[in-house]
Amino acid sequence: MQIKVDTGDTELIRAINRYRIVDTVRRLEPVSRQVICEKTGLSRSTVSIAVNALMAEGVLRDDDIAESVVSARGRPTSLLRINPNAAYVVGMKLSAQDVTVVATNLRADTLATLTLPIRPWRLGTESLCHMLEDGLGAVVAQAGIQREEIAGVGIGLPVIEDLTQGGTTRSPLLSGETTQSFAAMLQARLDLPVTVDSDANLLALAERWFGQGRDVDNFAVVLVGYGIGMGIFVNGVLHRGAHRLGAEFGHMKIDWHGPQCHCGQHGCVEAYAAESAIVAKAREHMTLPPDDEIHGTGKALQAAAAEARAGHAGLRTVFAQAGEALGVGIANVINLMDPSRIIVAGPGVRAYDLFGEAMIEAVRHHSIKRGDEACEIVVHDWPVEAWVRGAVSLILEKLYARPILKLKS
Ligand SMILES: [Zn+2]
Repeated sequence: MQIKVDTGDTELIRAINRYRIVDTVRRLEPVSRQVICEKTGLSRSTVSIAVNALMAEGVLRDDDIAESVVSARGRPTSLLRINPNAAYVVGMKLSAQDVTVVATNLRADTLATLTLPIRPWRLGTESLCHMLEDGLGAVVAQAGIQREEIAGVGIGLPVIEDLTQGGTTRSPLLSGETTQSFAAMLQARLDLPVTVDSDANLLALAERWFGQGRDVDNFAVVLVGYGIGMGIFVNGVLHRGAHRLGAEFGHMKIDWHGPQCHCGQHGCVEAYAAESAIVAKAREHMTLPPDDEIHGTGKALQAAAAEARAGHAGLRTVFAQAGEALGVGIANVINLMDPSRIIVAGPGVRAYDLFGEAMIEAVRHHSIKRGDEACEIVVHDWPVEAWVRGAVSLILEKLYARPILKLKS
């Protein structure tokens, strides 16, 4: 990235230095001032002044003495950490069956959690905002924190592009409103900063701040579930695209003469590898439980997976073909962006034993060989905490945003 800095702008340089120091502590904590100097290339005095200011503001703190190390000269060297209680975040996860509201600190430690058995798509946006306000009030009280200490509210939900209005997104969980107008409406009601993003972007942010994306700048998270999503980090920044719609990996074409996708086009990855596609194929082999309002195709998928594990050859092929399609799509992403790592995550990973081998084989077969620089594939199981971390990351991204990016926006 080309960064043009007016050398007269000392405020900006100071902000950039602060960002680099906080970012280094976040990634390497607990960390000494000496290591911060080495990693950032900043002088000892610059680091010292900035660290003292950040400690006075409560952003950084000294690590517990027990974990301090003894320097070569025999003096104990204090180590620095991010102060996880400098501020708090409320995360909300909207799904078809329920809404989870969580209060956490900046390390994404859960302080209080509440699951509301409401189906957002059945409520009007006004009523939904009302319930989310009550949910926030409940977890804030339970966590014993003050509303003024909340840095922001991060919300994850499935998002689809609105083709009729470029740059806007809708969610099947919101009746009528765009996600943008929903965020504005909730923000006005809560009087707190509200950020809404797609499930896939949330997972990618969670990996960047807390997981497998901390040590690499170029990686992608494949979200396997009812649909197929992707969040991509390029050079350390979440790629949102010109219209903030990001990567539509699920609609990457595998075979344009292939089956019709629910987007109306043909041969998309999602038309082979999404839960709905696997269940539709599996129904050709056996009778499966019908879809229902609460679980969708979930029960049918579980039944199909159980039969496949018991040795049903036809069903094993259905899962393997889904894996193959996913693998071809992943190989295309690898060829296009040369990432260090691909992280496969989402509820669909529960059936990884049935599709993983075919997926890896297809990745190997279709990706350009890069020798020792080959892309690493990591599979994550399905911790609920991933959403919480994602919601916190949405706010962290704003709090600690690179000054350059802040200036641009
Ligand atoms: Zn499609």
